[in-house]
Amino acid sequence: MCISMGHFLKIKLLLDSYKNVLASENKIQTEKFIYSALQIQDENILYNDVKYSHIIFCEGSAASLNPFFPALPFHLCKGEILDAYIPELKEEYIINKSIYILPMGNQIFKIGSNFEWDFKDDKPTELIKQQLESSLQTIIKCNYEIINHQAAIRPTVKNREPICMWHTQYKNIGILNGLGTKGALLAPLLAKKLLVDF
Ligand SMILES: Cc1cc2nc3c(=O)[nH]c(=O)nc-3n(C[C@H](O)[C@H](O)[C@H](O)COP(=O)(O)OP(=O)(O)OC[C@H]3O[C@@H](n4cnc5c(N)ncnc54)[C@H](O)[C@@H]3O)c2cc1C
Repeated sequence: MCISMGHFLKIKLLLDSYKNVLASENKIQTEKFIYSALQIQDENILYNDVKYSHIIFCEGSAASLNPFFPALPFHLCKGEILDAYIPELKEEYIINKSIYILPMGNQIFKIGSNFEWDFKDDKPTELIKQQLESSLQTIIKCNYEIINHQAAIRPTVKNREPICMWHTQYKNIGILNGLGTKGALLAPLLAKKLLVDF
């Protein structure tokens, strides 16, 4: 089956570009957030001696350790992705057939992904690399070279319902999470909903 007018989001490019915009406006700090440094006052939040009106946690799978939202129904799911250089493969289609083969330009393709529900860490593994390559070989018959291999944890939740809410006790602390396997699609709508719900 061929679906026309399909699109994909270059999420790293989007995030890096937006970070640059925020940095140019002096609106972003890139550092590890330390929960214990947060002080909650009646109307404001104090973090490292700076006052904020609200805090919204968007920490992906790390939120399973968030002390403000301790009982979230996470069922995290690890996935791995390969970047392959495939000089002879046409770049005009996204192929989706047990795995996806996504053209990124310059004959580089993203090959993904697997769903692993029981895992030890967030590191790429040789086993999944071999499985992805084996699926790739059933779809394409041309030479390729693997140039990168990454793994990450999807912040999936048991009932598949995204976590998008304000704290019951501290009204200016919110969370946006549980985006699971479709984060890029769901995030804008849910971010809007969170603000409307405040
Ligand atoms: C292999 C794979 C393939 C995927 N494919 C798709 C797809 O095709 N389409 C789609 O829509 N979604 C896809 N997803 C899912 C999507 O990536 C997730 O839903 C999305 O990344 C979740 O966004 P998030 O912002 O909640 O979490 P993340 O993207 O995990 O972002 C959380 C950020 O918070 C930071 N952070 C955490 N704790 C702290 C701290 N204490 N201090 C500072 N920073 C902190 C992390 O470093 C990270 O940068 C895929 C995921 C994986 C793993």
